[in-house]
Amino acid sequence: MMPFPQAKAAGKNRLDAAASGKQPQSEVHYREAEAPDQACGACLHFDGDKMCDVVEGEVNAAGVSDLFEPAAPVPAATAPAVGP
Ligand code: SF4
Repeated sequence: MMPFPQAKAAGKNRLDAAASGKQPQSEVHYREAEAPDQACGACLHFDGDKMCDVVEGEVNAAGVSDLFEPAAPVPAATAPAVGP
């Protein structure tokens, strides 16, 4: 399997990461997402184009990292039941 293109830039310069306050892609396992609802395109930190608030370098809507957070709350219908 070919590596995800953006992963090539991951961790290229740790000093850049420290200066930006963002995590290097290699340390947050930036990779191709398996599902669009768990990808950068659905993440709170994605700018809607190529940048992430918390991960260094260019990302795209089809990628994902360990820092994924859903931009929208999980619908109640899919939330686990609470109570007796
Ligand atoms: S934090 Fe979100 S937008 Fe940033 S790389 Fe990870 S999944 Fe993508």
